[in-house]
Amino acid sequence: MLKIGKKFANFSKFRLITTTSTYGFREQDPSFATKIIHVAQEPEQWSDGNPIVMPISLSTTFKQEAPGKFVSCEYSRLDNPTRNTVERIVASLEGAKYGLAYSSGMAAITTVFNLLSPGDHIVSSTDLYGGTSIYLKQVADRLNIKTTFVDVTDPANIEKAINENTRLVWMETPSNPGLNLVDIEKVAAIVRSKNNVLLAIDNTFLSPYFQRPFEFGVDIVVHSATKYLNGHSDVLMGILLTNDDQLHDRLRFLQRTIGAVPSPFECYLLNRGMKTLPVRMRQHMENGLAVARFLENHPSIERVLHPGLLSHPQHELAKRQSYGHSGMITFFLKGGKPECRAFVKRLKVIILGESLGGYESLVKIPALMPESYQLGVPVNLIRLSVGLEYVGDLIADLDQALKAAVHCNVD
Ligand SMILES: *Cc1c(COP(=O)(O)O)cnc(C)c1O
Repeated sequence: MLKIGKKFANFSKFRLITTTSTYGFREQDPSFATKIIHVAQEPEQWSDGNPIVMPISLSTTFKQEAPGKFVSCEYSRLDNPTRNTVERIVASLEGAKYGLAYSSGMAAITTVFNLLSPGDHIVSSTDLYGGTSIYLKQVADRLNIKTTFVDVTDPANIEKAINENTRLVWMETPSNPGLNLVDIEKVAAIVRSKNNVLLAIDNTFLSPYFQRPFEFGVDIVVHSATKYLNGHSDVLMGILLTNDDQLHDRLRFLQRTIGAVPSPFECYLLNRGMKTLPVRMRQHMENGLAVARFLENHPSIERVLHPGLLSHPQHELAKRQSYGHSGMITFFLKGGKPECRAFVKRLKVIILGESLGGYESLVKIPALMPESYQLGVPVNLIRLSVGLEYVGDLIADLDQALKAAVHCNVD
């Protein structure tokens, strides 16, 4: 395997020029962009004339040299050359030893829950991705795997909730849609002081470009690759990462046995989409911050949540544990359901739709969605995934929609 980190170690003396502002967040490793382009992409590994672009390996089965003797792969549910490549590259970006690819973020997430047995206990967060929350409440619960949901912004709540049956602590940071942060280092220390408890972090909202939880001692990192990793709203995929050999063996067994694996074509698209991750994430951050600052000063807005704003209650923690923030913003409109409906109806550039992390800006009103798990969310809470359009157009779009929809104190 290409050890890109070592190969470029001598280049550090050339790292004098920083072209992009870090906005006070941790300073990024500039070679991240080199890694994402070259790791696991050695042209020599593909026999047909050293192509720069990875071929798509569609074959479901591979010729054996003798019964049970495989050249590298046996059968595509178990192993596939295109999937193996994507698993290697994401592992390298997160600084993990192993990566495992799944057919969706939820397929990756439920594989982690499949490590547990009836009677085991999970500690998780009250503010959680809806799909994960539904699985824990309506599927795991029926298998007698119970979850205690706590406010994880205070790590003491997690410590209190851990009992002798707890086997897993499951966190999302920043969370969806509250953009609450978890102090990963503190929670990792609590979990390490307990016997036989794993810590898993859903890193979807920031991608490995802006946050790498293994730096703080977690056991498992999860991504819905459907979002920022792919970034083009045309692939549904999930990724699990770990450094632990035994944990990897068990997760690999579950991946192969359950069979919720992505197709080679999806793996190809993810590999392609990821090549621009650093460029996209920097632009998402710049656009997101500009939009957040605009909304913060708008008379029709009650409150804006963005970890890069001084007004975010965990702004200092955000700067300490991440390299930046993505395009995710949550804000509260002055008004109720009618104003919220009018606002999204009047948007011309920003699209009303589920999902996030693509090049296009998307807006969602969680409380107006039919799913019951979103009942606790305030009606005037709006989630915005700021895309890569010209930010002036996004701000103009928001401004005209707000002026038309909200009639309080607007000149
Ligand atoms: C979308 C999402 C998921 C689920 O991923 P799918 O690819 O839709 O299955 C999990 N966690 C977070 C934070 C998400 O945004």
